[in-house]
Amino acid sequence: RKWVYTFGGGKAEGSSADRDHLGGKGANLSEMASLGLPVPPGLTIVSDACAHYYSSGKRLPDDLKAQVLAGIKAIEVETGRGFGDVAHPLLLSVRSGSRTSMPGMMDTVLNLGLNDQTVEALGHHSGDARFAWDSYRRFIQMYGDVVMGLDHEVFEEILEDEKARLGHELDTELSAVEWQHVVSLYKQVIEQELEVPFPQDPDVQLWGAVGAVFSSWMNPRAVTYRMLHKIPAEWGTAVTVQAMVFGNLGSTSATGVAFTRNPSTGEKELYGEFLVNAQGEDVVAGIRTPQSITEAGRIDSGSDKPSMEKLMPEAFAEFQAICARLETHYRDMQDLEFTIERGKLWMLQARSGKRTTKAAMKIAVDMVAEGLISEEEAVMRIEPSSLDQLLHPTIDPRVTRHVIGSGLPASPGAATGEIVFTAEEAVAAEAEGRKVILVRVETSPEDIHGMHAAEAILTTRGGMTSHAAVVARGMGIPCVAGAGTMRVDLRQEKLIGMGVTLGKGDIITIDGSSGQVLKGEVPMLQPELSGDFQKLMQWADRTRRMTVRTNADTPQDARAARSFGAEGIGLCRTEHMFFEGDRIHVMRDMILAEDEAGRRAALDKLLPMQRSDFTELFTIMHGLPVTIRMLDPPLHEFLPKTEEEIDEVANAMGLEPGFMRRRIDALHEFNPMLGHRGCRLAISYPEIAEMQARAIFEAAVSAARETGAAVVPEIMVPLVSLKGELDYVKGVIDRVATEVMREAKLEISYLVGTMIELPRAAIRAHVIAEAAEFFSFGTNDLTQTTFGMSRDDAAAFIPTYQRKGIIVQDPFISLDFDGVGELIRIAAERGRRTRPDMKLGICGEHGGDPTSIHFCEDVGLDYVSCSPFRVPIARLSAAQAAI
Ligand code: PEP
Ligand code: MG
Repeated sequence: RKWVYTFGGGKAEGSSADRDHLGGKGANLSEMASLGLPVPPGLTIVSDACAHYYSSGKRLPDDLKAQVLAGIKAIEVETGRGFGDVAHPLLLSVRSGSRTSMPGMMDTVLNLGLNDQTVEALGHHSGDARFAWDSYRRFIQMYGDVVMGLDHEVFEEILEDEKARLGHELDTELSAVEWQHVVSLYKQVIEQELEVPFPQDPDVQLWGAVGAVFSSWMNPRAVTYRMLHKIPAEWGTAVTVQAMVFGNLGSTSATGVAFTRNPSTGEKELYGEFLVNAQGEDVVAGIRTPQSITEAGRIDSGSDKPSMEKLMPEAFAEFQAICARLETHYRDMQDLEFTIERGKLWMLQARSGKRTTKAAMKIAVDMVAEGLISEEEAVMRIEPSSLDQLLHPTIDPRVTRHVIGSGLPASPGAATGEIVFTAEEAVAAEAEGRKVILVRVETSPEDIHGMHAAEAILTTRGGMTSHAAVVARGMGIPCVAGAGTMRVDLRQEKLIGMGVTLGKGDIITIDGSSGQVLKGEVPMLQPELSGDFQKLMQWADRTRRMTVRTNADTPQDARAARSFGAEGIGLCRTEHMFFEGDRIHVMRDMILAEDEAGRRAALDKLLPMQRSDFTELFTIMHGLPVTIRMLDPPLHEFLPKTEEEIDEVANAMGLEPGFMRRRIDALHEFNPMLGHRGCRLAISYPEIAEMQARAIFEAAVSAARETGAAVVPEIMVPLVSLKGELDYVKGVIDRVATEVMREAKLEISYLVGTMIELPRAAIRAHVIAEAAEFFSFGTNDLTQTTFGMSRDDAAAFIPTYQRKGIIVQDPFISLDFDGVGELIRIAAERGRRTRPDMKLGICGEHGGDPTSIHFCEDVGLDYVSCSPFRVPIARLSAAQAAI
């Protein structure tokens, strides 16, 4: 079995098509090698070996060793060096790489192959003993931490002590001899702490590192990251072993990262950062603030440090050409890592670059114009849920800003919150419903959970490609990175900037679009949607089959949804209208009335209010379909709950508190969700349904007269399980419709349908369809009743189920295809058997969830309906589902 794929010298055994086995990094290195780009030769151990490692009690496959050694032989031939050769040593990097990138989550070992002998040779060949000893100590430090498990702090401490002893401030001030001494101290501490010596045998080093990379697949931060990004544990990570090249061989060497287009704005311009005389991870780690690659970028950032374009024009020109080549080859914006070793450029990584949603839109639209991709591909390039980012607020430009610091605009959007200094505090605050800004010197993968919990992130160190910046962009939360004018004092829990000292709990505002940090809370503006957005949406709309409606109960909701492109209302929950203003009093009069006459008197007062609500909705929707649902919740939801409230309300209504209490007791239910609600109310109190039907038809008449557009109300009966229930309520509605039309002398078309939100209704859909003119799947209730899990109480145990691997997704967020989905399939099929042209839609929360929308397309629903802010997400998801 083939475990190892080699690459280098203009050829490769694998290609970018093999990413499932070679991991993103290995696959793209192979691809670049085949393209003839300068890639240090190497080999990739497939991720299946990682799976094997775990399934066989952390043992590597038997035939792996021979294959790796053969691969190393090839690297030796290509480089003219020998692994472990004391005269011409080959040094290796050992890096992880899974199918999808998990930035910084797993381990890496560099400079592998160094020992007491090879370090001398490295010094000799490079003519730089200082570099050789520095590389050796870096290797011991990394290896000691990653493979041997000694905390890297132990090494940091030794180095800090040495620097203090020698009177040095910077690492760069240490001489070869001084580094050599640090190396001996490092080796000592390993022997002391671990009671084993640091391994001198390069073979032992190699297998130790490979095992450690496989082990890092299961480290807690990688496990958390996979959970957040729904990456299956079975995938495993590949391991790439590659000849080292050095960016830290003096002033003609450098290392850097770049994007072929601007990852924040999408602008077509090379965008990146580099550090002269630095190794590998220095740029990403954010320890030194890097310099711009291009002259334009340098000028933009106002930096006085020279760009790579100026400093190393030849390497820059070659790099620029490679960027263009890779973009055309992959037909996407690339995120690249490179190293320049004494003037010679080496490519170390290429992958699709992470980008803000705004940038993703611009790049997709531009690439269509450039003829690189089709409109459909452009539609597929945008992650629907990322559209949320576009809906982030920005700071009102009219306000005066109290700026207390500034840094890089690392991730767009603005947010306000209390300062916290640790990830743990951020998580705790979120649990209490407080909004916080996570303030750090820099972030690391250990902070992931805190970054998720925060509204925004502020760091005082690091560049646009630092961990904080990359992760925040991915999450779509605002971030200002490398705010060098500010200082974080962790011990005192203070943030100091421009003469202002703030502590934990103080309020700041972060503007991730300008890079500013402001004191206090600042007025925000709601976002506007760009021309690129409109264009992509047009393409999406052209592609999709399902229509997208909105769940809207108020004129504001309806207007917002229209502006986001909703094509009608799929659910108007009429009960929400009864909580507006003083209507609740009239509603309570109706509920507390002791007989039908009393109820009718109150309903007469509610009628004009409902009518005006509906007229407004019909007018806003201007001829688009509007689905109105009959009253659904149990009546006691409208009554006061606590003793004080009961007294207060009773007084205000001029009633005896004792009487009120008795009525409330009489309406008490053990399981209100399964109680006297939905169509059951309309059957017990048909006068309520009558009033609502009258309000709807009278509103339709007046809206039709006012707007001239035909209004076709779709009236929906909730919580039906028996055809008889629907027959009864439909009888009431039809009777009122006839009366209103006769009175108004105007014909109004309308539909009466039902929600399918109980398993019995789904199973008996062919019978119910004899009465129902449409179905709308109420997947909130359908999920609750199919699982027998209360939607209000499930939060107490669903996270436990997820942690224990019993379910992957919360079924109230993402549709349970196998169970609830099966009922939807059955109902759709049986309903259409009776009534082939019947309209089918969904109005539960799942109607705005991208994966659930794919399912709806699959089943052939006619529309999805979701909350206004999710309408763009649904439009895009519906298009992607149709492609
Ligand atoms: C549903 O049950 O899915 C639904 C849309 O109705 P509600 O959430 O109001 O019960
Ligand atoms: Mg429901």
